[in-house]
Amino acid sequence: MNPNPVVAIVGRPNVGKSTLVNRIVGGRKAIVEERPGVTRDRKDFDAEWAGRSFTLVDTGGWLPKAGEGGALDDKVSAQSERAIADADVAILVVDARVGVTSEDDLVADLLRRRSGPTFVAVNKVDHEVHEASIWEFLGLGLGEPMPISALHGRGSADLLDAIVATFPEPEPEDDAPIDEGDKTVAVAIVGRPNVGKSTLFNRLIGEERSVVHDQAGTTRDAIDTVVDTELGPIRFVDTAGMRRKARIDQDTEYYSLVRALKAVDASDVALLVVDSTVGITNQDQRLAERVDAAGCPVVVVLNKWDLLDTAAREDLAYQVETKLRFLGEPPVLRTSALSGQGVHRLLPILATTIHDYRRRVPTREVNLVIRRAQAQHPAPGGARVLYATQGASDPPTFTLFANRELPRTYIRYLENQLRDHLELGSVPVKLRVRKRTD
Ligand code: GDP
Ligand code: GDP
Repeated sequence: MNPNPVVAIVGRPNVGKSTLVNRIVGGRKAIVEERPGVTRDRKDFDAEWAGRSFTLVDTGGWLPKAGEGGALDDKVSAQSERAIADADVAILVVDARVGVTSEDDLVADLLRRRSGPTFVAVNKVDHEVHEASIWEFLGLGLGEPMPISALHGRGSADLLDAIVATFPEPEPEDDAPIDEGDKTVAVAIVGRPNVGKSTLFNRLIGEERSVVHDQAGTTRDAIDTVVDTELGPIRFVDTAGMRRKARIDQDTEYYSLVRALKAVDASDVALLVVDSTVGITNQDQRLAERVDAAGCPVVVVLNKWDLLDTAAREDLAYQVETKLRFLGEPPVLRTSALSGQGVHRLLPILATTIHDYRRRVPTREVNLVIRRAQAQHPAPGGARVLYATQGASDPPTFTLFANRELPRTYIRYLENQLRDHLELGSVPVKLRVRKRTD
């Protein structure tokens, strides 16, 4: 297995594929490998951009079956088709000076059936004056075309940036601790002392009535607990204090904050436990801010709900809305850890939150949202996002390629649009804006 992402360059003959390949790989030689599928029609190259390695596949001439070619052309097509299917990213190269041809349409058809990201590189845009011609290629239905000049290098950096941004995050180094539990969802239970964290945790263990085992935690004195649930194993991070029966009472605010933040760093989701009888305090707010800043989605647990009367319940709902507004609309769970009431709803909420957090949105969907958002509310001063892609998950991180700087308020607007239309719930969403420089 080749660990590098594979980028396939496709397009009809003469659009400039080889020139683009040369531009990207420089003087590098094709990887000559005697294996089925690698023939003169398909060349693989080692390539690198922005510190990320990938394999560039030149599919050679794309000669659609409908062409007048015969047996050899069929073979080329089959190979191109396979290269397209196998690639992580596809670049369709088209010729700005010729416009859309029926052959381009045929290839585009095939590319639209792919699941991975596809870019349309409109080549031979040697000068800015030719840029207007790229819009015709929107009709290929593969997202916003990117103008390049393979010959002069114009726009190729932007294209590569956009491609590299779609690659998954690099694997951790070999010496990073990886064990079987690596895929296990990690949950931190945080909150001020006495809000009911231990009670809630013990309740969770009790409810599951399944295998519970200890695991060395991420810090020296931490102990994690893995609980097998119907959703698969869940690792509760740093549960040392919560499992011990007789707990030390010098569990100060400061100590618990430091400890909580360490746990959050090692977690996918944080349960922020609040004492409902006290309400949302400053410390709760501060803790929530720190968790949010760490990029960890928050589930708010309003514990000791049993002790509230109706008026207090309404008041608390209002407090969550106002004092924790910066979290977006976090899932809120009302529990009585003591009696177990409401605790069973935790697992489904966790499942949804994790799903949102780890979600990968197809590039086309991202661009659709951005395009519509811009159509509804264009940015001031002619600023425009030309292309957007989700570069990473955990939390969802989007890279926007813009023609110039975007005002903060506008970035916020786009963030909200992405969140709403891609149904990302309340997980933190990161936006990076990159300015084109040519
Ligand atoms: P391929 O058949 O798709 O691999 O196309 P080539 O890379 O062989 O290019 C076909 C022709 O287009 C060659 O004459 C190139 O010099 C020319 N060409 C490629 N890129 C550009 C470009 O950006 N601008 C201009 N003006 N010509 C280009
Ligand atoms: P921690 O310091 O956050 O781990 O809090 P504990 O779990 O030790 O709980 C502190 C106190 O609150 C204990 O006396 C618990 O019995 C009590 N407690 C916890 N959850 C609830 C609840 O849902 N309802 C009520 N009435 N008391 C609770």
